[in-house]
Amino acid sequence: MYDVIIVGAGAAGLTAAIYTCRKKLKTAILSIDVGGQTNLTSHIENYPGTGPMHGIELMRRFQDEATGFGAELIMGKANKVEKIENSFRVGLANGEAYDCKALILAYGKVPKSLGIEGEEKFMGRGVSTCVTCDAPLFKKRDVAIIGGGNSAVEGALELATFAKKVYIIHRRDAFRADEITVGKLKQNQNIEIVINSVSLKINGEKNVESIDVENTITKEKRQIKIDGVFIEIGYVVDTSFVQHLVKVNEKKEIIVDERGNTSCPGIFSCGDITPVPFKQTVIAAGDGAKAALECYRWLTGGKGAVLDWTH
Ligand SMILES: Cc1cc2nc3c(=O)[nH]c(=O)nc-3n(C[C@H](O)[C@H](O)[C@H](O)COP(=O)(O)OP(=O)(O)OC[C@H]3O[C@@H](n4cnc5c(N)ncnc54)[C@H](O)[C@@H]3O)c2cc1C
Repeated sequence: MYDVIIVGAGAAGLTAAIYTCRKKLKTAILSIDVGGQTNLTSHIENYPGTGPMHGIELMRRFQDEATGFGAELIMGKANKVEKIENSFRVGLANGEAYDCKALILAYGKVPKSLGIEGEEKFMGRGVSTCVTCDAPLFKKRDVAIIGGGNSAVEGALELATFAKKVYIIHRRDAFRADEITVGKLKQNQNIEIVINSVSLKINGEKNVESIDVENTITKEKRQIKIDGVFIEIGYVVDTSFVQHLVKVNEKKEIIVDERGNTSCPGIFSCGDITPVPFKQTVIAAGDGAKAALECYRWLTGGKGAVLDWTH
């Protein structure tokens, strides 16, 4: 029986583990991989105090600290959570199951992929799923952004403040973003709108050099020379195995209060799997710390000492 099981070893889960372990709670982290989405960025330069580095290196440091304080890492995909009297049982896809007194769900979300040739090959070498993170890497370069929702349209506008030229490629004829934002898009001289078009292939040697697109109406093909491709077509969130215990919002994100409590006492959540705004590594880490301290408070019946400088 663990005091705490944390599902997910990204920035949120690993930080939560550092905090629960430092409170001497017996902690296991169950995860498919270690590092999560941060591993996908080859150059993270907005995590304070570390200087720019590969996301994998930053996450290795998180892991070393979490395991250094005593967290046990168990690799596997969680696919079942049961409440058994005063405890929880987490089942893994390989059939193993682990029990705990409290559970922290920190298993993030995965950006949707296009599923086209070159996408995986150039991920982190020109292909990105995070404008906020990677736009500054494309100063005075040409880039494409794929998608038609608010995040793609806002992403195009943000990219246009850095890049020389931005192509926004959308498979329909109208954007699903709000009209004011679409208006700004249309007025921006740096942005070329490529509608009714699907992306076929991302080309290059070592890095991205161009993208092949096809007009869905005329079937005309075009190769656009670019240095980067941003994919902003949404995220995949899988809360199916916890929805019988915790409330989720319309995006299937786990609803939490400001301390990381879910609707089920004893289950906490943090990071990208929640509605926390501005999905970023530093935010996920802070969120993980908060959920872990709240978890400790709950496990000790509110008696455990949690420093709070405001009280
Ligand atoms: C390409 C890219 C570049 C980015 N660049 C930056 C950047 O430069 N700066 C920045 O601040 N942010 C960046 N971000 C955003 C940042 O990576 C995320 O906000 C952050 O990783 C969220 O952390 P998390 O711990 O909540 O979730 P995640 O990082 O998604 O971690 C979730 C963990 O849970 C595991 N998991 C998932 N499902 C299960 C399951 N069923 N069972 C067990 N384990 C599971 C995963 O394997 C993973 O280890 C980037 C994101 C992407 C995709």
